Amino acid sequence: MERIGVYTSGGDSPGMNAAIRAVVRTAIYHGVEVYGIYRGYAGMIRGEFVQLHARSVSNILQRGGTILKTARSEEFKKKEWRAKAAQKLRKRGIEGLIAIGGDGTFRGAMELYEEHGIPVVGIPGTIDNDLYGTDFTIGYDTAINTAMQAIDKIRDTASSHDRLFYVEVMGRDSGFIALDVGLASGAEYIAIPETETNIDELKSLLRSFRKDKSSAIIVVAEGDEQGGAFTLAKKVKDAAGYEYRVGVLGHVQRGGSPTARDRLLASKLGHAAVTTLLSGASNVMVGEVNGSIVLTPLRETWERRKTIDTSLLELARILSM
Ligand code: ADP
Repeated sequence: MERIGVYTSGGDSPGMNAAIRAVVRTAIYHGVEVYGIYRGYAGMIRGEFVQLHARSVSNILQRGGTILKTARSEEFKKKEWRAKAAQKLRKRGIEGLIAIGGDGTFRGAMELYEEHGIPVVGIPGTIDNDLYGTDFTIGYDTAINTAMQAIDKIRDTASSHDRLFYVEVMGRDSGFIALDVGLASGAEYIAIPETETNIDELKSLLRSFRKDKSSAIIVVAEGDEQGGAFTLAKKVKDAAGYEYRVGVLGHVQRGGSPTARDRLLASKLGHAAVTTLLSGASNVMVGEVNGSIVLTPLRETWERRKTIDTSLLELARILSM
């Protein structure tokens, strides 16, 4: 393989740049040319390709976002547009791909491989941590640290005013962020989609806290089955006797300089993705499980479900008594 392409796609996450850097420099080390594909599949269809050199990725390790930009492309979900993308790649002599993103990105990559035989290796880049085949995804650690710091600040004002706060964190389909952030910030309750959020139980919990706690924080995953933070707050309205406020952390969780853990993970996985592609493997994601690099077929990354450790909910309950 003499020339490969790298792209970021779907939701951005802190550490994607560190992964791009690792991909580019590993490929060049092995004598392979690298092209950056801008704006994910939207740019692939349009042929937005730029050659990247070792110096093209200087000074990006510590930067959030993605220098390659990212996008969502409805067109790419259709066969004829994937054929157009494959044609553009061939014309530019791009023989293999490194896809950095989440499950949507990998679905597209798998289809491109199956329909056009273009080898592809995936790198898990999403703050949600919801991909099977890796203990952590790139961006997750930064996102939970950002959310934890925000909740620490909310705690200051909540306890000053004897207030109850509902704080919504990201996680449309999974409670990984909410669970870890809730535990790390001493939340009084954590609402996640994987377990039933019982309104009556929450009401009585808040009533008992009211007796001797100056504040309470409920961390809510945006995808909780009871609804987001505003909806949940309405459902338990006034039960606690506290004044309550709602905060939605939103996109701040996506940005910022990646933590050391995310930079390390991105560096290891970026390197592993290139050596995997050059070894002739394809249609797999590189991940880290128990400290080792593991390859998982792309399809399994979304078809198998990474289990959430719900015993942590019990731990959070014990520790916030
Ligand atoms: P993420 O990779 O973060 O999960 P998305 O779900 O938004 O992000 O997916 C990113 C892009 O991947 C989509 O905009 C689309 O171009 C492509 N994609 C997603 N699902 C499919 C699919 N089933 N077939 C082909 N392409 C897909």
